Amino acid sequence: MERPERAQAHLRRTRRTVESHPQRHDATEVIVDGRRLRNFCSNDYLGLSAHPALAEAATHCLQREVFGAGASHLVTGHMREHHALEEELADFTGRERALLFSSGYLANLGVIGALAHRGDRILADRLCHASLLDGALLSGARLRRYPHADPRAAGRLLQQRGHDSDGASGLNARAAQTRRTLLITDGVFSMDGDVAPLAELCTLCGPSHALLLVDDAHGLGVLGARGGGSLEYCGVAPATVPVLIGTLGKAFGSFGAFVAGDAALIDQVLQHARSYIYTTALPPAVAAATRAALRLIVEEPWRRERVQALTQRWRRAADAQGLPLSDSPTPIQPLIVGEAAQALALSEALMAEGYWVSAIRPPTVPAGTARLRVSLSAAHAEADVDALAECLGRHWRERQ
Ligand SMILES: *Cc1c(COP(=O)(O)O)cnc(C)c1O
Repeated sequence: MERPERAQAHLRRTRRTVESHPQRHDATEVIVDGRRLRNFCSNDYLGLSAHPALAEAATHCLQREVFGAGASHLVTGHMREHHALEEELADFTGRERALLFSSGYLANLGVIGALAHRGDRILADRLCHASLLDGALLSGARLRRYPHADPRAAGRLLQQRGHDSDGASGLNARAAQTRRTLLITDGVFSMDGDVAPLAELCTLCGPSHALLLVDDAHGLGVLGARGGGSLEYCGVAPATVPVLIGTLGKAFGSFGAFVAGDAALIDQVLQHARSYIYTTALPPAVAAATRAALRLIVEEPWRRERVQALTQRWRRAADAQGLPLSDSPTPIQPLIVGEAAQALALSEALMAEGYWVSAIRPPTVPAGTARLRVSLSAAHAEADVDALAECLGRHWRERQ
């Protein structure tokens, strides 16, 4: 192959088909291409996707309910299970209301689009999830990105209010006065595992009346003694983060997403979020399964403690193997490799030994920072964590 083509090939996206999970209640073991692999790259941090309580709740719901919701929430699709889940999520996150979306991607498109418009301004962390950026771009607001996890740089951008030459002249004076600034960040960064400096961002947003939106897809259920996520981890009160996005396909082991906030904000989203209004509601059995997951998250903190202990164990074992650790306190433990080809080669070497750790390459991560995104789950065994560290250490040293 010519060099440019090879570079292309190293960035080409492919997928593998999971044939089955041979142990019904352990999603970390999968059969792929007829081979048994230990999955170390899912977002199932608490192991709930395979918990029997979720399947039982869905099955129980299906015994008395239709499968498909049949319409959007605003037509006839909003069912009792959805409504109960929204109330429980509001309660769990300490907010007046929560609103369900069919996925986190749709939640971010819809919520940002409902809250920001042309003439408004959005400040976003440079490493924000693609769905947040897409939401910002689609909203028509002016998007400025600040260096990753740098509240001082975000503060400087906030100060520039009024100095932006972004066509405000085209808006009348009243519109200019009501222009809004939205500051958006992931709670836990999905490819790095670090936690946003939420306390500092809250301090910035308060006096400047910027609206802070936190997408805690990887924090909720995992971080904090109660599973309150990155807000609990950072010790910030719910009121200081007016817009909280959570997803239900990761630690919750289910599917869907929600936004939580005060009643007026949620009504604004319900009235205007196109990805809420113009899409079919989730199957009610999915909402029922998610309610079961939420009960486990609240009532059984041991899964959080276990994934935290396994994360510490991984960091000690990886360090002992001479692997460079990233500065991440979460179950997302990336190993930055650099070139996409190297990350792919390492991923394939691990697969040959029975471990599934995907190579994450540009443009999902910045150029030159291709990585293996190791993620831990409460469902992993200590011995598997140790064995992966040994295996990865061996291949890492071979390639130096
Ligand atoms: C995964 C993810 C999403 C998308 O959530 P889905 O429910 O999978 O669509 C949104 N934001 C962040 C930060 C994510 O990691």
